[in-house]
Amino acid sequence: MESLSTQLLVIGGGPGGYVAAIRAAQLGIATTLVEGGVLGGTCLNIGCIPSKALIHAAEAFEQARHQAAASPLGIRVAAPQIEIAQTVQWKDGIVRRLTAGVGALLKKAGVRVVPGWARVIDGKAVEVQGPAPESAGTGGAAATPGARIACEHLLLATGSVPQSLASMPFGGRVISSTEALAPQRLPARLVVVGAGYIGLELGMAYRKLGVEVAVVEALERVLPVYDEELTRPLRASLQRQGIALHLGCRVQGLNAAGDAVRVQDASGDAVELPADQVLVAVGRAPRTQGWGLERLMLDMRGATVRIDDRCRTSMRNVWAIGDLTGEPMLAHRAMAQGEMVAEIIAGQRRRFTPAAIPAVCFTDPEIVVVGRTPPEALEAGLDCITARFPFTANGRAMTLESTDGFVRVVARRDDHLIVGWQAVGRGVSELSAAFSQSIEMGARLEDVAGTIHAHPSLGEAVQEAAFRALGRAIHV
Ligand code: FAD
Ligand code: NAD
Repeated sequence: MESLSTQLLVIGGGPGGYVAAIRAAQLGIATTLVEGGVLGGTCLNIGCIPSKALIHAAEAFEQARHQAAASPLGIRVAAPQIEIAQTVQWKDGIVRRLTAGVGALLKKAGVRVVPGWARVIDGKAVEVQGPAPESAGTGGAAATPGARIACEHLLLATGSVPQSLASMPFGGRVISSTEALAPQRLPARLVVVGAGYIGLELGMAYRKLGVEVAVVEALERVLPVYDEELTRPLRASLQRQGIALHLGCRVQGLNAAGDAVRVQDASGDAVELPADQVLVAVGRAPRTQGWGLERLMLDMRGATVRIDDRCRTSMRNVWAIGDLTGEPMLAHRAMAQGEMVAEIIAGQRRRFTPAAIPAVCFTDPEIVVVGRTPPEALEAGLDCITARFPFTANGRAMTLESTDGFVRVVARRDDHLIVGWQAVGRGVSELSAAFSQSIEMGARLEDVAGTIHAHPSLGEAVQEAAFRALGRAIHV
């Protein structure tokens, strides 16, 4: 077995790990990254990117069907069809381009990439066992399987895995998001368990591809992490699209024939939901098992590795970032943590104290949440003004045939400091940058109201929400 040594050893080449490795190498730190699967991690291979590709394809198909039915725009389309295997190939092409790009970036930065599964020996050494067959895309400067690597700093970035249900484990008809993102054939009927991010993003995409979809959620609301006002347009859209919602329900498993999900509904009655496939999307669990993490005896917070505001674990020079460290399990959080850890190791003074981490749910309509929602502001004891500007009063939204939804601002009553932005509507994910910047830069309502926003654009609703909060809306 080859012996290697490095200053920084990163386990996991997802958005957290690969960004940390690139930044560290840029700062002159000798860096080695071990990846057992494919570079890019969950995000590029089986998460953010493939899901958004599938959502886009489903939307394009639905648009074609919408225009074929009775186009108000005067477009004539005849009986559109979808070849799902080709859609998946197209999606795989995007994934390949991006993962190869990550390999190239690591190489350019001078990171040594070792394909294979790392096993922790102690806080200063790991052993890498042979690469998985699918790790062809790992690329990198020097692929060295079967190595023992000694390091000064160890960065844990192993990500997360789909959570399973004891009553309905994965296998056969019961699939996770990974399988749902690579269908070779579409099921006639899909039951989705969990009305969170994955369940709704993929459930809606499947519906637009023509699948009959039923969603089962344990709580009383869809996307229960967000407030009722924000999710109301989404709920209406789910109904319009013909997605059956079963809220406040308990899933009990498959029936004896294996072709229906047994559910206890909100009033305690037993119901069977016919299913050719069942997508279980009830959250993700940090990947803490099977790679020797327990040898480090780190302090944990529940099932996640406990970190402080510099992403330090309880062991000196052992760092952890991304999904392994718990919520919010978002790619941009993992990347920001990775970049910060690299800079701290290089001697910079950094802390992970973002004013806000944006969250976007890519449903139809999309939902963006940055900073505090009105109920969260109330809970924090803040006296706030809240104002909404509806897309029904926005010209650009009308030209896009998407007037559902609104932009909402939450600001302190005393000094008008903006503490939160939320939006629901088609295409609002792109407003997240403006929202995050305004909060991170400490903008007040007057700053946004006094900024000229391009016309016609959805962004005008951002300025108008600020106007409205100041009691001087123009267009509503
Ligand atoms: P991961 O991306 O999980 O990467 C961990 C890597 O470590 C993997 O490549 C794995 O193979 C490797 N690894 C694990 N153990 C070892 C070991 N012992 N040795 C070597 N390698 C190892 N987030 C968003 O922000 N926006 C979205 O739109 C979004 N959509 C999503 C859609 C889906 C369907 C899913 C499942 C997730 C989505 N996420 C989204 C979440 C996002 O993918 C994760 O938050 C992000 O990938 C976490 O990054 P990470 O670096 O912590 O871990
Ligand atoms: P989630 O936490 O978003 O939603 C899980 C849902 O399942 C919740 O509504 C929960 O109440 C419900 N649930 C839990 N147990 C249940 C049960 N036994 N029966 C019925 N319902 C049950 O989790 P997810 O959708 O699996 O996504 C996992 C993570 O991946 C997210 O938390 C997010 O961090 C990340 N993600 C992000 C995006 C994005 O940023 N657009 C997209 C997809 C995934």
